[in-house]
Amino acid sequence: MSEDCLFCRIGAGEIPATVVYETDSVLAFRDIAPQAPVHVVVIPRAHHANVIALSETDPGLASEVLAAAGAVAKAEGLTGDGFRVVFNTGPHAGQTVFHVHAHVLGGEPLGLIVSM
Ligand code: AMP
Ligand code: ZN
Repeated sequence: MSEDCLFCRIGAGEIPATVVYETDSVLAFRDIAPQAPVHVVVIPRAHHANVIALSETDPGLASEVLAAAGAVAKAEGLTGDGFRVVFNTGPHAGQTVFHVHAHVLGGEPLGLIVSM
């Protein structure tokens, strides 16, 4: 737990968030600046800077984050029309919080990120 990490503090319950799903090791809460009708952030409570650090250090926890993202999508009613799970990583992706998190986005057509 890093005292100067926003998501460590949310994960520890020190900063309030609108929690939609939680286990002992992961937490999902509504994004404070939603980019879609449903926009939930999924974090491991343990600090890892990004998805590479998480998956290399603790692959079991990485799979718990993915399972939580799926559970959130189901609970939010997104599985029929579809949804997106995004791990912004580094400056080109616009990562602003350096505690790994998955964005779960849905509730309307999201547009294409990558067109073929
Ligand atoms: P990223 O840009 O991928 O690092 O995503 C960070 C996300 O955290 C952004 O979508 C922010 O809107 C969101 N965020 C920042 N502070 C909070 C907060 N206190 N509660 C919920 N979401 C937050
Ligand atoms: Zn952290």
